[in-house]
Amino acid sequence: MVDQRRRFFLRSAKMAQQQSLPWIKDIGAFTDHCTRCGECERACEEQIIVSGDGGFPTIDFNHGECTFCFACADSCPEGLFHPNTEPPWQQYVSIDENCLAQKNIECRSCHDACDERAIRFQHRLGSVAQPEINVKDCTGCGACIAPCPTNAITMEQQQA
Ligand code: SF4
Ligand code: SF4
Ligand code: SF4
Repeated sequence: MVDQRRRFFLRSAKMAQQQSLPWIKDIGAFTDHCTRCGECERACEEQIIVSGDGGFPTIDFNHGECTFCFACADSCPEGLFHPNTEPPWQQYVSIDENCLAQKNIECRSCHDACDERAIRFQHRLGSVAQPEINVKDCTGCGACIAPCPTNAITMEQQQA
């Protein structure tokens, strides 16, 4: 049984990290010009855009996944988003030591959530199957984050 309090604190700590919106490449320019009008937050049908530090919009993958619909970008009166002919972002997930499989407890919730099949489970001698991220196939959609019962999945920014 997962300790609910521990899970809450882990999730709260990770929520403190700001996740940029898709098609936003330069966070500095973004915070210089974003008026915090909230149009992108209202436009997001997945309701994953929330008000973050300083009232600037950020994404909380605990609410769901990005479907790359471009509604946030279309709604922005300031034109801060890159065109959707460009990739939305350079990010992928990683799995940390809170993963149940690493504690030899069977769990494949992340695998089941990933339409891209970017999380594969490899059999290991003497333990349950372990998840491995195929970074090339990961779109950074965040769909695997909320289903993880131990909040073991974190979004990582790809280094240029
Ligand atoms: S692309 Fe669509 S689903 Fe993704 S954050 Fe923007 S409005 Fe939400
Ligand atoms: S719609 Fe544009 S200006 Fe308004 S809060 Fe979102 S990113 Fe900022
Ligand atoms: S972020 Fe999306 S594509 Fe990447 S592993 Fe998770 S569910 Fe799959």
